[in-house]
Amino acid sequence: MAEQHTPTSELQRQLQLLGEQFAERLAQELPELANKAELLQAGDHQAQLQQLRGLRDQLHKLAGAAGTFGFASIGQRAHELEQQAIHWLESLRLKDQGLQEFIQQLQQFAAQGVQGEPAPNSPAHPKATLKPETDTHCIYILEDELSIGENMCLTLGNFGYHAEHFSRIADFDAALQRRLPDALIIDVNLGDSEQTGLAYAAALQQRLVQPLPLLVITTEDDFATHLEAVRVGAMGYFTKPVDIPQLENRLMRCFAQQQGEPYRVLIVDDDQHLASRYSLILRSANMLVEVLDRPAGIFAAMSRFNPEVVLLDVNMPDCTGPELAQIIRFNDDWLRVPIIYLSAETDITRQMNALIKAGDDFVSKPIADNALVTTVFSRAQRARLLSIALSRDSLTGLLKHADIKEQVGIELERAQRSGKPASVAMLDIDFFKQVNDSHGHVAGDNVIRALANLLRQRLRRVDSLGRYGGEEFLVVLPDCPADQALRVLDEIRQRFAELHFIAGDSEFTVTLSAGIASTEAGAKDAGELLERADRALYVAKHGGRNQVSQS
Ligand code: GH3
Ligand code: MG
Ligand code: MG
Repeated sequence: MAEQHTPTSELQRQLQLLGEQFAERLAQELPELANKAELLQAGDHQAQLQQLRGLRDQLHKLAGAAGTFGFASIGQRAHELEQQAIHWLESLRLKDQGLQEFIQQLQQFAAQGVQGEPAPNSPAHPKATLKPETDTHCIYILEDELSIGENMCLTLGNFGYHAEHFSRIADFDAALQRRLPDALIIDVNLGDSEQTGLAYAAALQQRLVQPLPLLVITTEDDFATHLEAVRVGAMGYFTKPVDIPQLENRLMRCFAQQQGEPYRVLIVDDDQHLASRYSLILRSANMLVEVLDRPAGIFAAMSRFNPEVVLLDVNMPDCTGPELAQIIRFNDDWLRVPIIYLSAETDITRQMNALIKAGDDFVSKPIADNALVTTVFSRAQRARLLSIALSRDSLTGLLKHADIKEQVGIELERAQRSGKPASVAMLDIDFFKQVNDSHGHVAGDNVIRALANLLRQRLRRVDSLGRYGGEEFLVVLPDCPADQALRVLDEIRQRFAELHFIAGDSEFTVTLSAGIASTEAGAKDAGELLERADRALYVAKHGGRNQVSQS
């Protein structure tokens, strides 16, 4: 089945590639822009107008595209400059000395380039350092029972979150004044408080500019409380005693959804005007859109763009939408991609017939902008959740064995191409069998999740993390020489050793060993690199464990 063909690693790679290409384009375009600005000073009025029009168009494209590729401030600045270009075109007073200022601003903009721009999709920028502490997700817990709240705090702390517990609404409110957390966990029954937790949460979410992810904990398991929780906008519902790993899993999902990459949508429509309009609407809702006006281009577009939703026009000259949908469904790799028909078709029977052949949904033209966005968004969201659930290890949310292994090959090739060394590290928890034997399998699972979380929190977005085996992890660090990898992994080793785990009445700590191999020493293939990392791990184990060694 399609399971292993569209892992999120592939998605990341596509996005990375797009980001890289765009960065290259910027590097070419910005000097051109500076040239145009230069030319604006010379020539007669007509020539100036022509230069200005060229500048306006180029800035317009930049403004639209830069943000999509993660260069937000370049996009914003280009937009501002575009507005100025329009202003000068309209005013036609090109002898005005304000124009000189505009030219200078353009040149500054061009000279600045991508410096200081945190481009999330570009792997070239971030260095292999630990993230600052502030990247840790902060969670506030409102729970009147002290022991439950404290225990939850400690366990979430183990998982790498910064959690704070409050027993009373007044304290919770005071903390919110000081700093807004990234998520809220609120108990429904707050003992002798006048307000229920849900009533308080409802009022609180109203007060906030943007509601925070909210998880509800409660002793009530009835329908009415569930419903009330949904109406307050809760993203999770947990009955006591709370299964904290499960709650943590939900938190992870909330954050993943928040920080997710834009959804990729492919539109196939022979009416280019309409297609551009849909495309514009979806782009403004922060989606990445590609338009295809020839159905025959479908294979190339599906493979290259890897869309998460396909919008199909029903009536096209060479091939109908339902026919194209069936062609897409011939390929198992694309089974997971929802297909939505766009059509002026209002005959319900014909709509039904189309859906029975293939396809998942129907939206009728003319379609309201927000209805289009909502339909596409909900389909894309569901498809991505499923895709993550299928391609990720269920205990840790990290890549599975085959996908992380594939990533080693990808980064090795990239390193060979770019000349920037990549490192891989193999980690293995020390004496893990004893953890299971002494504290139980559930406690063991918690340790595995805690390490996964620590890795996620301490490594960069461009790094790939996978669960290689039971208590073995593999991380791939692009643009990271061995000494740097050694430093980073050793800090992770230390932090992990500092975690205090609780199981029943006992408290315990665990250590890990790691082996590092880098491409600096040369590697003919991924297998060789992995073998070297494995050998280094063996050395670390035999050197006494709780250490990192390098091949
Ligand atoms: P070493 O320091 O040499 O690595 O010793 P170790 O005990 O960690 O190594 P060993 O490979 O002998 O044992 C690994 C144990 O990990 C055996 C297995 O039961 C346990 N394990 C593997 N996967 C899981 C899991 O998903 N959850 C839990 N709780 N335990 C697991
Ligand atoms: Mg082990
Ligand atoms: Mg092992």
